[in-house]
Amino acid sequence: MKLIEVSNLTKKYGNFTALDNLSMDIYAGQLTAFLGTNGAGKSTTINLLTGIQQPTSGKIDYNESYSKDIGIVFQNSILDNKLTVWQNLATRAYMYKHITIQDLENLMSQTGVNQFSHKRYGDLSGGMKRKVDITRALINHPTLIFLDEPTTGLDAQSRIEIWQLLKELQQTKNLAIFLTTHYLEEAEYADNIYILQKGQLIAHGSANTLKKTYG
Ligand code: ADP
Ligand code: ADP
Repeated sequence: MKLIEVSNLTKKYGNFTALDNLSMDIYAGQLTAFLGTNGAGKSTTINLLTGIQQPTSGKIDYNESYSKDIGIVFQNSILDNKLTVWQNLATRAYMYKHITIQDLENLMSQTGVNQFSHKRYGDLSGGMKRKVDITRALINHPTLIFLDEPTTGLDAQSRIEIWQLLKELQQTKNLAIFLTTHYLEEAEYADNIYILQKGQLIAHGSANTLKKTYG
């Protein structure tokens, strides 16, 4: 099932074209990776898909039969360094009247952040912080989450752990995941890979298809 259909999406900043005529689909339950170097237009794409920015032209169709609630993991965390993990997440959960403490505790054990729930967010390692960011994005049971370079700046072990968590969430919750990365080797974990260069989509396919084409 298609969750989002993107047609001919273009974003210009003045005369500069950051995203040029992008068409793509996002499917329920699939992990879609947007691969590209710095400045390729990855953040711009996430900002357009999440409504943070408006396109210059083109169209984004959202499937109305799925919950409009999406989760977003920003590149720079929006959580409070001085608060504990629990305080940060409970503050967020409180915004949704139908989410109970038990719901939050269940989610925290699934993502593993229950193991350090009483630590201050600012005292956590990069990998632990990212797990908390992901947990925050999942509080309202979204159908789809967007993650902007979730593994950038993390050590190799933490990167593996984040990927394990994302794959597990995809499988157990049938969660659709859209993420950006500049690590070529990470894109292999994705069901769908889009390669972006200077605002242009230069390739699209599964890891296997792309390997056959580009060696
Ligand atoms: P990525 O996330 O792949 O690094 P971005 O989407 O952030 O790429 O940026 C794509 C290009 O658009 C870059 O050249 C960037 O400098 C430029 N850009 C991004 N935001 C703005 C803005 N608000 N004004 C002008 N240029 C921008
Ligand atoms: P990212 O690595 O996510 O692309 P950047 O460091 O490129 O982040 O951009 C951070 C912020 O600055 C974003 O909100 C982006 O829109 C804005 N930005 C990036 N490039 C420019 C630019 N050339 N002019 C104005 N704003 C920019």
